[in-house]
Amino acid sequence: MAEGDTILRTAGRLESALGGKTLRVRALDGRARAARVERLDGRRLERVEPRGKHLLFHFDELILHSHLGMSGSWQVGQRGERWRKPASAAWVALTGESAEAVQFGGPTLRLLSIPQLRLDTTLSRLGPDVLASDFDPAALAASLRTSPERELGDALLDQRLVAGIGNIFKSEACFAARVSPWRMIGELDGGELQAVLAAANNLMRVAAAERRTPFQIYRHTGRPCLRCRTPIAARGQGDANRRTYWCPSCQPRRAEGAAGSS
Ligand SMILES: [Zn+2]
Repeated sequence: MAEGDTILRTAGRLESALGGKTLRVRALDGRARAARVERLDGRRLERVEPRGKHLLFHFDELILHSHLGMSGSWQVGQRGERWRKPASAAWVALTGESAEAVQFGGPTLRLLSIPQLRLDTTLSRLGPDVLASDFDPAALAASLRTSPERELGDALLDQRLVAGIGNIFKSEACFAARVSPWRMIGELDGGELQAVLAAANNLMRVAAAERRTPFQIYRHTGRPCLRCRTPIAARGQGDANRRTYWCPSCQPRRAEGAAGSS
């Protein structure tokens, strides 16, 4: 699953390979043809914007919107370089003088005008981006606070509250901040929420820069916690039953010392 870190890194690679260039744009499957992506052929790509888990390719007044979902990917490389996936899986190819980018799979590839982009129900309702250059943990915490009755691990995945976090960094950020993903937003104090968000921002930025990060807790079910050796627990959470990993000792269900010191 492409989370915000993958999208940020991919946007950077796409922009450095193809930004400012006039591109040849080819629809390679029925979806791309239906989206009429060939209207972009011969246009100049101004920039590639990462927005949460979405990629927006700005070509003047037209925007190519790509979302990779669970299985989609972009290959960015030299023109003529061999594709890592079969051509039958390719949706669209963007080709410059020396570089080429191909989207394989995804759930989303479509073309939008600027007014359509502004009115788009998914894109216009995205919460503040955890990887925005002006990242502000207080603003993201305030957005989460609008859902006080939701569990933290569930709320972190709601792209309308905060954009960019997926199932991996949901668990990793809660673990790093030592906050239980099972606590309700309304019972967390501002410092705890901001610590989780700052951890998500930090871990995802490192992942975006280094491509690989060793996970501390994701898919570590039953293995000893790196801090306290307690076996890592895992269980489905939220309406979509997305798997959440946590350390029952380091991330207690109830805040310790909540009564304060006397
Ligand atoms: Zn632990």
